Amino acid sequence: MYQSACNKRCRQERASIPDLDPGGAHGVLGLPDREFAIVEDRRGEHGVGAADHDAIHQVLQPTDASRCDHRHIDRVRDRYGISVQVVSPEADDLQEMVATHGANLFYKSADMRRLCCDVRKSRPLARALAGYDAWITGLRRDQASTRKETATVAPDPAHEGLTKIAPLANWSKDKVWAYIHEHDLPYHSLYDLGYTSIGCAPCTRATVKGEDERAGRWWWEVNEVKECGLHWAAKQA
Ligand code: SF4
Repeated sequence: MYQSACNKRCRQERASIPDLDPGGAHGVLGLPDREFAIVEDRRGEHGVGAADHDAIHQVLQPTDASRCDHRHIDRVRDRYGISVQVVSPEADDLQEMVATHGANLFYKSADMRRLCCDVRKSRPLARALAGYDAWITGLRRDQASTRKETATVAPDPAHEGLTKIAPLANWSKDKVWAYIHEHDLPYHSLYDLGYTSIGCAPCTRATVKGEDERAGRWWWEVNEVKECGLHWAAKQA
């Protein structure tokens, strides 16, 4: 998940959504098909844009550094000339969860998986979003059944008071990849190894032709909602 603060320019662009032309949406398209967010700062202090980002953060999925491919952060830094703030889970939350349920709790049940996602992703995200009015994600409707109703701009039920913006909501996977190649954008290296959706290492595998784009996420679960902790809302349970 990436996010950055947003100034007046961002607010103006947001005001044009849902008629937003994705091609004109500053840095958000620099990392399509990833969890990407631009967050509006109530203080209006920070800038955002292809050339004037001054704050961008990533919530890492900290289970396996190789899968996270931290080099991707450097590629983003180099490409856009921005700073990257890494947001991590609270050590106390993590210790308590692992002591109580074990390090591989996510394999035990969907509830345990959701707990892990909550501790490792959702709580850090909530901390990172505190003080902002809105955030932008890379969700697309054709990624999964849980995302087919994704609104371009809507209140975020998982984060009260925040607006969630999904400028790529109506983009197809092919359109995203065409844009990436056309503009030579940096992307996560695992996409070249057959991964079509990338989460934490123990919960992600590559997919094969014909499988759902998110079939490699929590692949051992049957008849469960395969939604990332970052976008989980209780009503989906
Ligand atoms: S994807 Fe897996 S390891 Fe990562 S936070 Fe969720 S359950 Fe935990």
